[in-house]
Amino acid sequence: MRIVVLAGGIGGARFLRGLKAAEPEADITVIGNTGDDIHLFGLKVCPDLDTVMYTLGGGIHEEQGWGRADESFSVKSELAAYGVGPEWFGLGDRDFATHIVRTQMTQAGYPLSAVTEALCARWQPGIRLIPMTDDRVETHVLIDTPAEGRKAVHFQEYWVRLHAAVDAHAVVPVGAEQAKPAPGVLEAIAAADVILFPPSNPVVSIGTILAVPGIREAIAEAGVPVVGLSPIVGGAPVRGMADKVLAAVGVEATAAAVAAHYGSGLLDGWLVDTVDAASVPEVEAAGIRCRAVPLLMTDVKASATMAREALTLAEEVRA
Ligand code: GDP
Ligand code: CA
Repeated sequence: MRIVVLAGGIGGARFLRGLKAAEPEADITVIGNTGDDIHLFGLKVCPDLDTVMYTLGGGIHEEQGWGRADESFSVKSELAAYGVGPEWFGLGDRDFATHIVRTQMTQAGYPLSAVTEALCARWQPGIRLIPMTDDRVETHVLIDTPAEGRKAVHFQEYWVRLHAAVDAHAVVPVGAEQAKPAPGVLEAIAAADVILFPPSNPVVSIGTILAVPGIREAIAEAGVPVVGLSPIVGGAPVRGMADKVLAAVGVEATAAAVAAHYGSGLLDGWLVDTVDAASVPEVEAAGIRCRAVPLLMTDVKASATMAREALTLAEEVRA
């Protein structure tokens, strides 16, 4: 079975770990979000690609959900001693090595997709990880600031420095319109037996991937079941700021509204949590087959059960 998954960071990675446990024989291609990428200290940092790579490769800091296990922060504190920031972005010593290798290869002329493949040669994530594009895309968030009025900030500044504490007026994947899908992305979609949207952020993770011209169209035209899992449970994101960025695009933070936002032109099936069972008829009325099942990824077993439910729903759609 060939499965294509569009993934952000933590939500995508934890789901993928469950999917691999549920379907160890499956051929899984992950199209990763690169809109969160940021240049820091002269290095190219790809938080979502790394979260997927570290989580599936066994190097992730489990409780935190991002960054390396057994991490130390000597480089960061030495940089701070020189007054060199930003201090709000946590880059650990082990993690720095990944960004140094990536930057070195990028500067030598390798595209991000080739660099990602090289990094994965070490981590052996057991899936094929492809960035959505080799071109530079950077998600910016429009906010109001006391000092400078309305301005755009990098997504990481909104999320990590400001903790999404202020309202987002717009979310713009800068560069997406001119970006081309990375080599292998459209081919994987065309060859897929099923396409899954894990409970990743619908706006700044999956939405950004879908903003690369050609990807949304390829998924809609693939002619295979497309099934998603809600990142919104009981009217709120399980973690993170999905409610803030959904508000910025005019979508209510409910499981049903997120399904409608993707739309029946893209999505064939949608899983909501059991606490949102009452919204199943609404989703089905919109032309999307819907089931209510437990959607909390408390451990790999729970995530694997979710993955199985998604594949079962895909089979129902196919039939
Ligand atoms: P990020 O890039 O690290 O923010 O990760 P993703 O975009 O892949 O996933 C973020 C989304 O995952 C958030 O909107 C969360 O609500 C959702 N999420 C995290 N853990 C869970 C979980 O256990 N169950 C569900 N249903 N959603 C989750
Ligand atoms: Ca992310």
